[in-house]
Amino acid sequence: VAVVGAGVSGLTATKCCLDEGLEPTCFEQSQDIGGVWRYTEHIEAGQPSLYPSVISNTSKEMCAFSDFPFPEDFPVFLPNAQFLDYLQRYAEHFSLREHIKLGTTVVSIRKHPDFATTGQWNVVTEAGGKQTSHVFDAVMVCSGNFSEPSLPLHCFPGIERFRGQYFHSRQYKHPDVFQGKRVLVLGMGNSGVDIAVEASRVAAKVTISTTRGAWLLSRVFEHGYPWDMVLNTRFMSLIKTNLPRPLSWWLINYKVNQRFNHENYGLQPEKSLVREPVLNDDLPSYILTGRITIKPGVKEFKDNSVVFHNCPEEEPIDIVVFCTGYNVSFPFLEESVIRVENKHASLYKYVFPTHLQKPTLAVLGLIKPLGGIMPVAEMQARWVSRVFKGRGANVSPPPCSHQSFSCLFFFSDSFRFGLAYDEVLKTEWLVYLDTLASFIGAKPSVLGLLCTDPRLALTIFFGPCSPYQYRLGGPGCWEGARQAILTQWDRVLKPTRTRVPAGSSSSF
Ligand code: NAP
Repeated sequence: VAVVGAGVSGLTATKCCLDEGLEPTCFEQSQDIGGVWRYTEHIEAGQPSLYPSVISNTSKEMCAFSDFPFPEDFPVFLPNAQFLDYLQRYAEHFSLREHIKLGTTVVSIRKHPDFATTGQWNVVTEAGGKQTSHVFDAVMVCSGNFSEPSLPLHCFPGIERFRGQYFHSRQYKHPDVFQGKRVLVLGMGNSGVDIAVEASRVAAKVTISTTRGAWLLSRVFEHGYPWDMVLNTRFMSLIKTNLPRPLSWWLINYKVNQRFNHENYGLQPEKSLVREPVLNDDLPSYILTGRITIKPGVKEFKDNSVVFHNCPEEEPIDIVVFCTGYNVSFPFLEESVIRVENKHASLYKYVFPTHLQKPTLAVLGLIKPLGGIMPVAEMQARWVSRVFKGRGANVSPPPCSHQSFSCLFFFSDSFRFGLAYDEVLKTEWLVYLDTLASFIGAKPSVLGLLCTDPRLALTIFFGPCSPYQYRLGGPGCWEGARQAILTQWDRVLKPTRTRVPAGSSSSF
């Protein structure tokens, strides 16, 4: 199996192939593993790092690989250096490095002439200026969706006459560049808010322009627990997916406005809009203390200033950061294999291209669920490697005509949840994980466990849906899974409960 990329998805794909007795060869364009989590000062070819100060949006218990918990002394949300450390430990622990070819770019992947019967692929790679052709039985595309920055300058009239500096968030390295400047951050995704918060510590003034607004969640959630360990439970998922839409919309509105009223802070998303929420603990207080101002979309740029929609006065600006996201692209694949239009790719369960005669090519890690991406990529890899091995015939992609309906099903399903999914590439995290887990027989049975292990059953149902749940049974089950579930809160409290006053209980 050819695995393209050695980031989060590529590493777990390589591991899952080995678990199934397949022979993976993982090609990584840059000089080391880690993908977006490996920040380098100079942008290397194919190195898709976000920015140096990035911190994980999901807690360590909810984004761990399902048979490899994070060390208990690691912080609950991880700076990129520690995240990379974890990925390196994962690679060492499962002896993945010997299957990874660093500094090797996948140039093209084409159907083998016998594809209709063998399902094989011709893969051309390039290393040190030399091209090599290989034939593979199957391919896992794990190249991520952060490699091609989206810089839609045509949407911003007058940008060509703007005399200040501008760049994409991908080029951002250090807040020094904002020292004493008036900064405009365009786009209120996670990159935009993180960079605005950093800039506001040194800049003269920081403005965020958002056309759509967004819900803002805090990593530190109810009672100080990580947001995803509170929200991503089976109990909550049952409620979210079964309430009528107006009721779930009201509930979400109520929940996210509990900490502060989004309307009063200029953040309220438009009524009909659902989009990926932004995770940030600092923004509300920075707005309150005047360090950051929220403005609507940009109407036009002038020489040294910007005019916003519905705002009469011009705003003087020195630097603009385009935090306008990334395009999904697969330059090494023919368009006939995967066509990406409007950030929508026609993929069965967001994994298998819908029109291939043989299910021997899969794309991993493309969806953006409201939850950890690592357990999702891992679950996809477990399913795909079984399909490749021929052990998942009953769950392989169905014939062409049904496939796009499946995407629609997921979209409408997640739409009922109504919080996060304005694009088809996003879906309800727990429902999606459960669906793929049921394909490979790894979905935990809460009712079954209630009879045999009630403590575990209740923890699984009311507690966080940590990925270890998917290693309790079925193929690839892990004997440490039960213990990992029952000790998940201990690992969360270990790095923070570092001072226990005499007389208080020391254990959770
Ligand atoms: P993003 O989430 O795709 O957001 C891009 C934003 O740019 C849009 O929401 C929109 O903001 C604005 N935009 C896009 N096209 C535009 C146009 N033509 N005109 C005006 N505005 C436009 O990009 P991102 O923030 O770089 O994040 C990319 C992914 O990385 C996300 O999934 C994010 O969660 C993830 N990420 C994670 C972390 C982390 O884990 N800590 C950090 C950063 C990013 P408005 O609607 O507000 O105008």
